[in-house]
Parts: sequence; C-alpha cells; structure tokens
Amino acid sequence: MNDAFTYNDERFADLQMLRYEVRGFENLSLRQKLLVYHLSEAALWGRDILWDQNGRYNLRIRRLLEAVYENYTERDTDQFRVFTIYLKRVWFSNGIHHHYGCQKLLPEFSQEFLREAVMQLDERLLPLQEGETREQMIDELWPVIFDPSVESKRVNLSRDEDIVLTSACNYYGEDVTQAEAEAFYARQKASGDALRPVMYGLNSRLVKENGQLKEEVWRSGGLYGKAIDHIICELTSALPYAENERQQQVIQTLIDFYRTGDLQTFDQYSIQWLQETDGEIDFTNGFIEVYGDPLGLKASWEGYVNLLDKEATRRAQTLSDNAQWFEDHSPVDPCYRKRECRGVSAKVIQAAMLGGDLYPASAIGINLPNSDWLRAEYGSKSVTISNLTKAYDEAAKGSGFREEFVIDTETLQLISRYGTLCDDLHTDLHECLGHGSGQMKPNVTADSLKNYASVIEEARADLFALYYLADAKLVELGLLPDAEAYKANYYTYLLNGLLTQMVRIQPGHQIEEAHMRNRALIARWVMEHYASALCLERHAGKTFLRIKDYSLLRTAFACLLREVQRIKSEGDYAAASYLVETYGVRLDATLHREILARYERLNLAPYKGFINPQYELVRGTEGEIADVRIRYGEPYDQQMLRYGRQYCGIV
Ligand code: ZN
Repeated sequence: MNDAFTYNDERFADLQMLRYEVRGFENLSLRQKLLVYHLSEAALWGRDILWDQNGRYNLRIRRLLEAVYENYTERDTDQFRVFTIYLKRVWFSNGIHHHYGCQKLLPEFSQEFLREAVMQLDERLLPLQEGETREQMIDELWPVIFDPSVESKRVNLSRDEDIVLTSACNYYGEDVTQAEAEAFYARQKASGDALRPVMYGLNSRLVKENGQLKEEVWRSGGLYGKAIDHIICELTSALPYAENERQQQVIQTLIDFYRTGDLQTFDQYSIQWLQETDGEIDFTNGFIEVYGDPLGLKASWEGYVNLLDKEATRRAQTLSDNAQWFEDHSPVDPCYRKRECRGVSAKVIQAAMLGGDLYPASAIGINLPNSDWLRAEYGSKSVTISNLTKAYDEAAKGSGFREEFVIDTETLQLISRYGTLCDDLHTDLHECLGHGSGQMKPNVTADSLKNYASVIEEARADLFALYYLADAKLVELGLLPDAEAYKANYYTYLLNGLLTQMVRIQPGHQIEEAHMRNRALIARWVMEHYASALCLERHAGKTFLRIKDYSLLRTAFACLLREVQRIKSEGDYAAASYLVETYGVRLDATLHREILARYERLNLAPYKGFINPQYELVRGTEGEIADVRIRYGEPYDQQMLRYGRQYCGIV
C-alpha cells in the first residue's frame, strides 16, 4: 500500500513544497520499472555536482548545517527554528543563494548561535579539511554565511562589472577574469567547425594554473569523476532494460560521453536522443542548461526521468486525428480555412524523478537540445509535464485563491468539478489545432503584423480553443463528459483575463507579456461587445465577474475568432494595433490595486518545488527482484538528509 497521497506539503519562507504523483507506474512491466529505477538513481547521483557548481563553499556549508540539524540538543528555541528555515532554504536552492533571484540567503540566527552549536558537536561530524581546526573552519566559513558582501550573488549580470570575478558560482577559478575567459573561448570557436560547432566550454571548469588557462573537464577520471562514475554505473545497469535498440544506443553514447568528456560525442548523443521517440520511458541526464554561468557557456548538471502520459497523449491524438473536421467547421471566413489540415501531436509526459538543477524547483515543459545547429538540422523534442502541472493545480485548490475571486459557490463547484479537465483540453486545442489552423491570403507574409504578431497569434489559438470547448463534438469524441463542462473554462479564462492575471504585474505597470495581453484582449473585447453575457459586480468593496449567458459567450468568441483570423490572413496591421492597444494593454489602476491587495492577503508562496517519490526494489523468496515499489510519504527534510548521505562525494 502507498502512503496517503497529498499534493501540498510544507510551506516555509517564500516556498511551498508539493508532491507529484506518477500515475500508472504500478502497471508498467518489471523491465520498464527497473529502467525507471536505474535511470532515477542516475538522476540522483549528480546532485553534489550541481551544489559545487553553484558555489565553492556549498557542500561544506551543507554538511555543517546538517550536522547541527541532526545533533544539536537545544531544539526548542527561536534560534533553532530560524536555523531550520535557513537550512530548508539552502536545500531548496542547492546552495546558499536564492534559486531564482541568485542573491545570497541571509540567516536570521546569530553568528554566536551557530558557533556555540558547532562547539557542542563531535569534531568527526564537522566538514573539517585536512589539518584544519574548528576555529579555522569558522574563520573561513562564517563570512561566507553571514557577511552580505561576501559571495553576494551567484550569477551577477550587471554590465559595468567583471561578471566572472563577481559571480559566486564555481564555473571559473577564483582568479579568472571575464576578459580571459571570453578570449579563451573565442579562440576555441575560431579554430573549430563553423557550421556544426560543439558547445564550447559546456562541460568544464576554467582555471588558471601557473598563469596558464586550462579546462578541468567533468568526466570519469576528471573533475566530478567520482559522481560521474556512479552515474555511469547506474546507466550501465539500465542498459539491459532499454525498451528498444535505439534507446539502448542513447544510453551507451551518454556513457561514452561521461567517460571521455568529448563534446562531439555529446552532440551524437543528442541526435540519437532526438530520434528515439518510441519508448514509453525517456530521460535526460547531463550538463544541459547554461543559466547558472554569467557567460552562458557552462552547463549545470540536471537529470530527470519521465513516463509517457498515455491518457493525455491519446487525448491530443484524438484531436489531431479529427483536425480536418475542426477546420471545416470553424467560424472563420471559408477562404481563410486550411484545405488540408494536419494536427500536431504533442507528447505529454509525467515526471518520474527530478534531479540536479530540476530539483526541487522544476520546469513544467522541456524543449531540448540547446545546440542551435542541431535544432536547425534535427529539430527538437518538446514536452509538457502533466503531473507537475496537475500538482500545481491541485495545490491551488487549497490556497483560498478561488474562494477569494470566484463569485459564488455554484460557480466554485462547477470549477472544481470540470476545471482541470477543461484546462487540459483548452491547452490541447490551443497547441494541437489552434496554432496550426487557418491560412494566409496569397502574398501576405507572416511578419506583416510586426510587434503585434505574437499577441494576435496567441489570441487566435485561444479563441479556437474557447469556441470548440463548447462544441457537442467534444462530448461525442468522449473528451468531455457533458454539455455543461465547458462553462468552467469560460469562467476561469475570463476571470483571469479581466481580473486575476493582474496579480503578476507591479503597481503602476501595464500589460507587456504576449499571453497576458491576448487574454485581456479577448476578455475585454467580449465584455464591451456582449454586455448581456457577462459583467463585473461589486460586493462588499470587492469586484467579481458574473457570467449571465454562457451560450452567448460562444457566439462572442466565434465573432472575434473570425475577425482575428481575418487580421492574420490579410496582415491587417492597423486592425491588429487597434485591438491590442484598445483592449490588451492598459490596466485600471484602482482595480489593479484592489486585486493586488486581495491577493497579498492570501499570503501565498511565490515559489514552489517538489518532493520526489522513492523507488524501492522488492525481493522475492529466492532473493530475485520481484517488483519495484513507489512510495510518496517521505518528509522534505528526511529526503534531503538521505540524499546527502546516499549520493555524496564528487571527487
Ligand atoms: Zn500558444
């Protein structure tokens, strides 16, 4: 039996911990489960690589803090409580800098508290270096922990400073300057393949040795070699369980890359990974994203494992298969409908394990590889991660957000009954059909709408989705349970466009982002032209949306879709500009203040992250592996402490 599953876990500082559920894991074959198991282990073994990449003191500080957390005796004090919050934040950020803002986390406990706690501990529990005394360790680490001016930013991007010297991340030796690093990689680039360049500097630390620059490559036998050997070991264990030959080749080439550190092998691996699309299980493991390096060259380590979300993928497939029907019945002018129409089949996956730079804070969509020439020649894999999105949605249900902004219990019930299903379907209609629908008038080019092109394009895809959500065809295809369901999406969509999306905008600012402009445009245009379908009402000093006629809303969406498609097909810049500037940009300052104040009172955590499930091998009577069990109940601190013990050591 699994532990009882809850999406929301602890909340501290500006963070909310969530859990994600891996639906259908139990139904995989034993081979597939073992593949997930070993790839998951490989995804966890790189954790300390990331900690070291994020800052040269991180691993020692973590060991110090964990020793205090586990062994300090006076736990029922305010100092220990704020110490605990600091440690949880450090765990979350994989180091002492904020995971998103990059500024150093400042402890609220005193230097004396930590000194006293350290003095109380057995020396063997402390991260002392060879021949180092407690006092020496304190002298070295205290400024790093407590002094705001030391190691103050993980990634510094301010233009008038040496961004390599002033960033606390550990991708360059302490004395390497920005000019030296830039010149070093300019030389590499100049002497390499200009058409298909490898990603220079991606997998190494640049240091100075006797005045000479050199790369310490992250590979077996090189820097981080010990952790990489463990990753290789788990990848090797995964090999026999690969679902097909190509997937086996992907794993093998990745092992070769970790052995040699050769970036051409990495490109080879990326191509094979792109071409492997048949497996139900997929993974990424390696040096991938470069946001952590101020120069954008060196990649942080990340690992994740995923399962195909069959149900969601089937839903997207059903829409794709019927793409022509939707096109032929769309309310746009027949001359702007596409004659022959193919839907895009988006792949939907579920995360099965998150590691490195994707843990605990994770992306919800992934589009790789990052190499430009590779994308141009071979394309990219683009996926959305449904169980993480679902966890965000479920967590929002308990937050009080809906209760604050939705007008009455009847509408609340409608949303809790159909909301998630309709939102998913809206996304599918938008992505699989909306963007691909319609055709241009001959001789009109896609760039004629200039700065308004992306807002108009997003509006077109959203309107396509909104129009069809209320169509009987979706019930007929088995994608919606009944003819009421669409109302949940109509309400939340318009609520967002008219009111709640404002919470993401600073006071005094206007709407800038294309998706937000598009939602405001649609909602306000509909409100102005179809006032009998919806209105804003005031109750006890608060503004609410009331929908009076759902079926009239569909007529409104049809009408606007027809106009937006015409604007796009004809490249009518003036009409695009009028729509966007009239409905999509400006905010009512008084209303904006009201919404911000209501949101602030809810005291929601702005950042969220995930606690991983655990996979455990189950032995049969003969000692053979009989099953792999998934468990969800592990507390946040226990998971972090276990990872620290189990997957430790990089050199
Ligand atoms: Zn879109």
